[in-house]
Amino acid sequence: MQQLITGKTKLLGVIGHPVEHSLSPVMHNAAIAHLGLDYIYLPFPIKPEDLQAAIAGFAAIGVVGFSVTIPHKQAILPFLSAIEPIAQAVGAVNTVVRKHNQWLGTNTDVEGFLAPLQTYHQNWSQKIAVILGNGGAARAVVAGCTQLGCAEIHVVGRNVQRLREFRKSWENSPLAVNLDIHKWEELPQLIPQAHLLVNTTPIGMYPKVEESPLSAEEMADLQPGAIAYDLIYTPNPTKFLQQAQQVGAIAIDGLEMLVQQGAAALKIWLQQETVPVDVMRQALQKHLGLG
Ligand code: NAP
Repeated sequence: MQQLITGKTKLLGVIGHPVEHSLSPVMHNAAIAHLGLDYIYLPFPIKPEDLQAAIAGFAAIGVVGFSVTIPHKQAILPFLSAIEPIAQAVGAVNTVVRKHNQWLGTNTDVEGFLAPLQTYHQNWSQKIAVILGNGGAARAVVAGCTQLGCAEIHVVGRNVQRLREFRKSWENSPLAVNLDIHKWEELPQLIPQAHLLVNTTPIGMYPKVEESPLSAEEMADLQPGAIAYDLIYTPNPTKFLQQAQQVGAIAIDGLEMLVQQGAAALKIWLQQETVPVDVMRQALQKHLGLG
């Protein structure tokens, strides 16, 4: 049944540019409907030059909170009154909430990334993580691997200058991040050591579903029982994850991270301990045509 919108309906949303393909409204509105709450979650396309005006407007109209996606995850920092340590460490905000007439920013991507990993190992102190890519999502993955306590974190990228900047950006981090950077050509030496191999590049994302960051031969060197984690959620599974399963690795797709970062944000906005994660996951699976 269509939700009745009234003058009392509370506003949540996502800001991005573009934002029309965001899956966040699907999962958040499913949870809101399930909980029977008088909220609505809307996509707001905000151009970079309109960000400050949009945030002021949100305050004026009483928006309760909002998600932040590309290209605003870093640009929003100056417009917030407080930023949680985890968001400071990652250098990006993906969730904002209005509290005591102030905007507070946090980052739930780290929690989202970690959620599906918790069940596999109790102790990560001997584990080696290899991360493909050094963009925005890789930052949450590095913070997550640091929180897990991984023995070694290796970040592999194609651009040496950007790789160096990436490493430098962690030097003053409140997280004790210990990472090595590598050019893509060094990947074959790293794969046999990896207990956790994470793809944070868009290689293999729809519509280029036949692509993978690794060749089949490179993937064959992954240890059986290692975890291959792809942040991409369409297609599901990606070629990368199919290759990993073929060599006996555990495959984790990006859908669960998406669901769990959203669930963590909804808990903050609604100020409640639990939200219907299963409802959010099912809504996304249905929307994406997954079985
Ligand atoms: P981003 O900031 O643009 O970073 C992408 C990274 O991939 C960059 O380091 C880029 O290298 C690298 N890359 C791109 N194409 C490459 C290629 N052909 N070969 C080698 N490296 C390549 O993007 P992002 O925000 O981190 O997002 C990355 C992916 O994660 C996207 O597919 C996104 O959908 C997914 N994601 C999923 C979730 C989730 O909840 N599941 C959350 C966030 C992101 P350069 O630096 O050299 O350009």
